[in-house]
Amino acid sequence: MTTTELTGAEDVAWDLSDLYENGDDPRLEADVEEAEAAAASFRERYHGNVAGLDAAGLAEAIEERERIESTLTRAIYYAHLWFATDMADAPRGALVARLTEKGAAVDTQLLFFSLELADLDDDAAEALLAEDVLERWRHWLRSVRKYRPYLLSEPEEKVMTEKAVSGFAAWDRLYDELLGAIKVDLDGEEVGFEDAMSKLYSPDRDLRRRASEAVTAALEPGARTRRFVFNTIAVDRSIDDRLRGHETWISYRNLSNDTTDEAVQALVDAVVSRYDVVRRYYTLKARLLGLDRLSFYDRMAPLADDQTHVPWGEARQLVIDAFADFSPETGDIVERFFGEDWIDAPPRDGKRPGAFCATNVPGVHPYVFLNYTGDRRSVLTLAHELGHGLHGYLAAPLGLFNASTPLTTAETASVFGEALTFKRLLTLEEDPQRRLNLLAGRIEDSIATVFRQIAMNRFEDAVHTWRRDESELSSEKFEELWLGTQSDMFGDSVDIDGYGSWWSYIPHFIGTPGYVYAYSYGCLFALSVFRKYELEGDSMVEPYLDLLRSGGSKPPAELAEMVGLDLTDPKIWASGIDALEAELDEAEALANEIGLGR
Ligand SMILES: [Zn+2]
Repeated sequence: MTTTELTGAEDVAWDLSDLYENGDDPRLEADVEEAEAAAASFRERYHGNVAGLDAAGLAEAIEERERIESTLTRAIYYAHLWFATDMADAPRGALVARLTEKGAAVDTQLLFFSLELADLDDDAAEALLAEDVLERWRHWLRSVRKYRPYLLSEPEEKVMTEKAVSGFAAWDRLYDELLGAIKVDLDGEEVGFEDAMSKLYSPDRDLRRRASEAVTAALEPGARTRRFVFNTIAVDRSIDDRLRGHETWISYRNLSNDTTDEAVQALVDAVVSRYDVVRRYYTLKARLLGLDRLSFYDRMAPLADDQTHVPWGEARQLVIDAFADFSPETGDIVERFFGEDWIDAPPRDGKRPGAFCATNVPGVHPYVFLNYTGDRRSVLTLAHELGHGLHGYLAAPLGLFNASTPLTTAETASVFGEALTFKRLLTLEEDPQRRLNLLAGRIEDSIATVFRQIAMNRFEDAVHTWRRDESELSSEKFEELWLGTQSDMFGDSVDIDGYGSWWSYIPHFIGTPGYVYAYSYGCLFALSVFRKYELEGDSMVEPYLDLLRSGGSKPPAELAEMVGLDLTDPKIWASGIDALEAELDEAEALANEIGLGR
């Protein structure tokens, strides 16, 4: 058992029966078989013939291609969701493994289609794209063709895809399992990783220190394997990049995010150039806590002895109200997640750590996965994941291909939902000390999303660059690069002694190399949208909902235009950071007003 207080969320489990009854449901097997058969006949019919299709024929082919992928994705989603709530249960792991293999086999069958589409010469492709019957697939087709310069021949692509099952995907799965198995010995009691991490939010400094030491100790067993996995993933990336001709380790990610190396570098530069915001905040926080300097384990400490504990029922109402206040339609949608068991809430033994939303589950609705502990952070995480849920729900009618968003716009609705919920919390609070606490929590979250992710991107960049140009990374090298890129951000404001192995529980480095900057990108973009909503009020509601309803059917720049923002202007990043700085000004003023930290 864990030491977590009861939240009332203990029995809040999702109902996956909207997908399948269980892992043995014959409908699951039937779907997989149907997708396999359909893939085979798709190949039979279209292989080598794509260039000869007219616009109507091509539209029909894409629809069938999407239908096959939706059928299979549905089964694969089920396997992953079922596995996430009990990773120690062997049949669940086995189903994930089996469907991953089936998925790769079907992908292999169908690869030719994207390759032949990418192979069409530019004039022929533009002529097809101009036809009305292909309007629905225009953005999707352009997205497929953007890989044109980096594709290999079909047999080569087939080998790459098949070998990824025992390569990249296997390393990713191993890493996930290693993380899921981490147990923390805290004061002689065994607790889960999330539980131990949540102690960093405790007002008791000694408990925070003990928890951080316990986490550091818990990260040691298996660290060697996790380092090996990261080294291997970095090599895997560099092999792919060399074969395909991507210029840098992150070029592939930028391309798949519908952005460019230059635009991402501009974001990185903008954020790095404002690390002073981070240092200023942590210096204020040290004064408010009566410390000379924060240690890394003090960053999340509450400002006063105000240990928020929000029961599940209260969190539910707060979040529903926040969304309903924005627009009744969004409130109704969010309410369905609770009422219809689309959420799995409590931490449990063997459950995967963290939170996510399975956004585009074909044929059904999104599912939200949490480890709800009742602290303020987990209330905002709930709002965050429901923001994703709302986005997926609204975009679902577009179908799988058009609903799926690139990483850069995937966080728009989640950050927006968090902002709505935060404003509501702040409005309901009149006590200046507690207002200051809320504001501080908000700034800390923004630091975690905007600045910390860029510092992590700098770490990732250093790891991949070192692996590529020098050698395999030793334990010392990982630590040196991690602490170096962290202290670039913290300066002298935070003592990071003992923090050297804390990169090694972050799954994104392994599962989605290059991912982390998208949080910063998405957050600063979403903050700009939210600021516009605050300035312009209800006239922004419909354009914003239209943006969500558009899913990933348009490039990010066009989505931004729908709400009157220009994504190609680097000033959008600087202005987002200015908004964060304004919150910091407010927190400093409030601290002075109530006579704290003088
Ligand atoms: Zn998110």
